[in-house]
Amino acid sequence: MKVVFRNPSRTEAVAGPARVGDVLARLGVNPETVLVIVDGALVTKDVVLLDDAEVEVRPVISGGAGPARCSRCRATAVIEVARHRAAYCGDCFLDHVRAQVRDAIDRHRMLSYDDRILVAVSGGKDSLALWDVLLDMGYRADGLYLGLGIGAYSDRSGATVAGFAQERGATLHLVDLADGYGYDVPAATGLRGRSSCGVCGLSKRYVFNRVARDHGYDVMATGHNLDDEAAQLLGNVLRWQTPFLARQSVVLPATAAGMARKVKPLYRLGEREMAAYCVIKGIDYVVEECPMVGGNTVLRYKDALNALEVASPGTKAQFLFGFLDRVRPAYFATADPEAATLAPCGECGQPTPSSEGRAPRCAFCRTRERVVAAVAARGAPSAGRLVQLEQQGGRESGA
Ligand code: SF4
Ligand SMILES: [Zn+2]
Ligand SMILES: [Zn+2]
Repeated sequence: MKVVFRNPSRTEAVAGPARVGDVLARLGVNPETVLVIVDGALVTKDVVLLDDAEVEVRPVISGGAGPARCSRCRATAVIEVARHRAAYCGDCFLDHVRAQVRDAIDRHRMLSYDDRILVAVSGGKDSLALWDVLLDMGYRADGLYLGLGIGAYSDRSGATVAGFAQERGATLHLVDLADGYGYDVPAATGLRGRSSCGVCGLSKRYVFNRVARDHGYDVMATGHNLDDEAAQLLGNVLRWQTPFLARQSVVLPATAAGMARKVKPLYRLGEREMAAYCVIKGIDYVVEECPMVGGNTVLRYKDALNALEVASPGTKAQFLFGFLDRVRPAYFATADPEAATLAPCGECGQPTPSSEGRAPRCAFCRTRERVVAAVAARGAPSAGRLVQLEQQGGRESGA
């Protein structure tokens, strides 16, 4: 396709079909600084452009003279971060990401260099970037990938994670829900009382805890970023979910003996920064969303916060950091109300809330029983994905 730039004028040829966002990325253009116009109409970054398209890329930042300069070294910038009123070249941007992770770790005493860390990796930008940053910073970080059985999406995710582990020579635990527990996430569709995402989240938390405990990890790290945490906080505040507010933290201490603490070292970095990190580092990640994401309310909160952020950069960070630094210590310092009543599940031994006098059975074991019964009624899910993944890379030691 023909891509015509205005002010200053130039023309580039790019092969199609390709998404607008990908075309801009290939040409090193920050989407926030331009409008993309096809046949006189504006198009957004998800629109697919055909090979014979004629596309105009029009700059929208007035008062600028030529390309933005890196705020640190004055080289040509590749990304602007409005929240910091800064632009960065590739190298300085990677330094910026590492500095934000270092700040998060030090402020909240998340990790030490003696800790054995288990990173939950999905194949998406955040978790792979987190694993990459921690390895680069010299931490002892292994990965855990849980195969959810969501068709081609899971196949691509598993292969991407295995490829990353192989490239970095990192240890990866592979667990497949169908192989290990007799069901997959699509099998939970239509289950009364819990959505597929609810079953998926419960399964992820359970397997993560279990692998961490069985393999003696000190810390579990997840790729939750600034956008995830701010959206979660907004949802909790809008509904005044005070127990959830009490649990919303970037460090959750171990709730029982043998359990690992949970940390979120990316909470000071936005989604866009994590995607940019992966692009600059050449990390292949799964760009597609999970096909079962429809109706996820967190996405609505993210949209609302992004609208505020455009009008007033820094709003999201002020909202989240204000809660973590001031509100939480002042009003929710006693933290997790569930922690005092934990006891081992009578079936699997994982800690679970208990009421006095009754042997508890954890939410995972109860839900699993129902999903497995539904699977038996409909026919078994396909197993054996792990075998393929193991052949592609990573050192397997799954549960
Ligand atoms: S969108 Fe739902 S089903 Fe898909 S990975 Fe996320 S929680 Fe799981
Ligand atoms: Zn620079
Ligand atoms: Zn259990």
